[in-house]
Amino acid sequence: MIKDIQERILSLKKEKDVCILAHCYQTHDILEVADFVGDSFGLAQKAQKVGNKTVMMCGVRFMAETVKILCPEKRVLLPEPGAGCPMAEQLDVQMLSQLKKSYPGYAVVAYINTTAELKTLCDVCVTSSSAPKIIKNMPEDKILFIPDRNLGSYIAKQCPEKEIVTVHGCCPTHARFTAKDVEQAKEEHPGALLLVHPECDAQVVALADFVGSTTEIMDFAKNSDAERFIIGTENSIVQHLGIDCPEKQFFPLSKDFICNNMQLTKLSSVLHCLNDVGGEEIDMDENTRLAAKKSIDRMLELGNG
Ligand code: SF4
Repeated sequence: MIKDIQERILSLKKEKDVCILAHCYQTHDILEVADFVGDSFGLAQKAQKVGNKTVMMCGVRFMAETVKILCPEKRVLLPEPGAGCPMAEQLDVQMLSQLKKSYPGYAVVAYINTTAELKTLCDVCVTSSSAPKIIKNMPEDKILFIPDRNLGSYIAKQCPEKEIVTVHGCCPTHARFTAKDVEQAKEEHPGALLLVHPECDAQVVALADFVGSTTEIMDFAKNSDAERFIIGTENSIVQHLGIDCPEKQFFPLSKDFICNNMQLTKLSSVLHCLNDVGGEEIDMDENTRLAAKKSIDRMLELGNG
């Protein structure tokens, strides 16, 4: 059944000239039909380079928006319109404008996990892996970091020369696990290395053997000499690593480490979207796109500096 759907998807995407991007948190059956798999910004950059006129982003809404910001000439599809990101959407333009008034003179740094609208009010975007370098390269010393307080405080430790203010936002999937969950997982899997995403709570990050973005976690696990790992990010990564490295063992930090928004997109959503009976085309007015793109352009400039 899965194979049948996958074959129909592969044939339709060829016929309709669609490039399929899949975020690492998607299920393995979606990864198998994707042209590219990775973190959100890396995927948007891949979309810029392909010749296809249509790109489908299997992930959540802000990821599809980022593709549209970088690829205005392409038709960008989100296969599951209900797939949002609670962290990206927890601040709106009014709230950020108010915050900016409360912190005059602070440069606003936004995690890429923000809406396109919010990016229009930011000075620069960052990804979880590029953030320390970009912030160090910024001429400004006072930073207002949005929206993830956990990533913000992790970066603040690496950039002690900057004054970094964080807001109360967080990823509800990553932030809910505690040192107690780590203790329990380590008891169940003695000797396994703990790899976590910096969106996790500071007490979990402090206990980790490795902290990095989703792609960095996967690369670390694949290249490490160690054979057993506890994975402190969305449980789809446990599934992917188990398939990619059958000789190693991967355990979830918790069986509940699931992003329901990411898991909304099913293989059938991809098929329906290709058949034009589901999904949504991302529409963005040019002023919003250009203003949001400025913060991404600055990220690339400072990241290369
Ligand atoms: S894991 Fe967190 S940041 Fe990622 S899409 Fe889900 S809610 Fe958003």
